Amino acid sequence: MLVQQRVARRRAEELLRLGQVGRLNAMGELAAGMAHELNQPLTAILANTRAAVRLLDDEPPATDSARAAMEAASVQARRAADVLARLRRSVERPGSAERRQPVALRAAAEAALHLLEPRLRAAGVRPRIEGEARRPVLADPVALEQILHNLLSNALHALQRVPAGERRLTLRLEAHAGRASLSVIDSGPGIPAPDRPRVFEPFFTTRAGGLGLGLSLCETLAASMDGRLELLEPPGRGAAFRLTLPQAPADAPGP
Ligand code: ADP
Repeated sequence: MLVQQRVARRRAEELLRLGQVGRLNAMGELAAGMAHELNQPLTAILANTRAAVRLLDDEPPATDSARAAMEAASVQARRAADVLARLRRSVERPGSAERRQPVALRAAAEAALHLLEPRLRAAGVRPRIEGEARRPVLADPVALEQILHNLLSNALHALQRVPAGERRLTLRLEAHAGRASLSVIDSGPGIPAPDRPRVFEPFFTTRAGGLGLGLSLCETLAASMDGRLELLEPPGRGAAFRLTLPQAPADAPGP
């Protein structure tokens, strides 16, 4: 009993440390602020481009005024891009590359699953880990944790949308040519074809209460470690995301 309490408390602390609660709240505030800041340049772009169309429709077309209106629109578009660049910088973890060290991918996967164990159990999901990564990968352990946590969390959300008896979650480890990968494969409803190119875009979400920043953040974190995150072709049904990272050199000290 005591042990269970201790495990539960440690899990809660870990979740808090991962910033699942605080971070998402902070991001919500950030997103609201950004939306507000983006509203003005977008309104100006709309007004200027509409004016340019009207000016070009004049007989004869007022090309000089139309050009001025388009230039004003492009200045505003640059401003909107700057706002978004600022958002991206604020969610990145600068210096991730320096914090890289050999990490056992399987152990990282097990730790992430352990953290989500109560939610997995409540959803009746028994995750399977298959394959092996052979050597440790070179990763920032905290960034790796955040990526795995996000991918598993998304899979859980997806699985909750299918009947309990059809919920499968597989973590597949593979190694190939100096790189190792971990795929998170779920048997949820999958991602509709038109949405597939958009899932890594900031603010793309189909989930009530979702922010649409999870995958965008994970992709940035993966890239900062010389890795990549991809959405795989639909595995029949469900969704599969693969994280690939460089392996640690054979002579590196163990994790
Ligand atoms: P959020 O979870 O806040 O919506 P994400 O960036 O993590 O933000 O995900 C963006 C969108 O990608 C989700 O709203 C959902 O439409 C889709 N998605 C991500 N993972 C899955 C998955 N495993 N199965 C189905 N759809 C998914």
